[in-house]
Amino acid sequence: MSFDVVVVGSANLDLVATTPRLPGPGETVLGSHFAQHPGGKGLNQAVAASRSGAAVAMIAALGDDDAGRTLLTVAEHEGIDVSQVVIVTGAPTGRAVITVDARAENSIVVIPGANELAHVDQLPTTIGSSTVVLAQLEVPIATVTAAFAAARAAGIRTILNPAPAPVGGLPDELLSLCDLVVPNEHEVELLGGVDRLISSGVGAVVVTRGAAGVTVTETAAELSNAATWSVAAFVVDPIDTTGAGDAFCGALAARLAAGADLRPAVRYAAAAGALATTVAGAVSSIPTTAAIERLI
Ligand code: ADP
Repeated sequence: MSFDVVVVGSANLDLVATTPRLPGPGETVLGSHFAQHPGGKGLNQAVAASRSGAAVAMIAALGDDDAGRTLLTVAEHEGIDVSQVVIVTGAPTGRAVITVDARAENSIVVIPGANELAHVDQLPTTIGSSTVVLAQLEVPIATVTAAFAAARAAGIRTILNPAPAPVGGLPDELLSLCDLVVPNEHEVELLGGVDRLISSGVGAVVVTRGAAGVTVTETAAELSNAATWSVAAFVVDPIDTTGAGDAFCGALAARLAAGADLRPAVRYAAAAGALATTVAGAVSSIPTTAAIERLI
């Protein structure tokens, strides 16, 4: 099988309890509502690429439990190939346990579980037959580095969404394997700024700035010759910005895999990010190609 986009990343089940107020230490409160949602940046971005029309495979690790089976079903329902998803025994599926109070304050515990395990065995075969490889940092850096090294060796484009950004920055070895790095404004600061990324060998840095749009810095043939350009945000009525970055990254990967140039692909992704802010939730807010093209 060959794929337009292979996503190397996390999958979590988010467990959300709504209560009038958050419990203090040692306290039990009665909640008013419970819901569970698929999540994890890897799964969100795989869904976004698939809804943008790409043939998507996901490389991820789940536990051998009900949460893992739920996430597999979600991915399959979205048309994502899960034949390279590893089911590990002895580790739980990643979960986020979220409590939200009446003022929308929250407290969150993330249990990475199976996501923390490196799962690099299948990388070369799946990646070797793809057009774009997309990763985030909710799985081990060693996994992402191995995936990008396999991609680079096969001449396949690599896109890193460095989220969450590690405080000490990223190893040069990984950066030199990135064709595109797509941080938000906070992440790019934690990584030492755009110039630092460009001088580490990244081909282009795409900084997402929420309602302020996107700024792209591309290296030309010579390293010293970097060109910067911007794409304005689409004007929408945001109600929940969760998942905007994931919608952006998945849509960008799908458009690039379809052969689009960087500038129109960024504009398309900006429309996907804008639409994601108009619907609550993460996966539930990810738009389809039809909706994105209507907005454009
Ligand atoms: P993250 O969710 O990773 O912090 P951003 O908030 O930068 O990412 O959102 C990603 C992209 O989605 C932005 O670059 C922009 O194109 C779009 N977007 C996000 N928030 C808005 C908004 N309020 N209005 C319009 N577009 C938005």
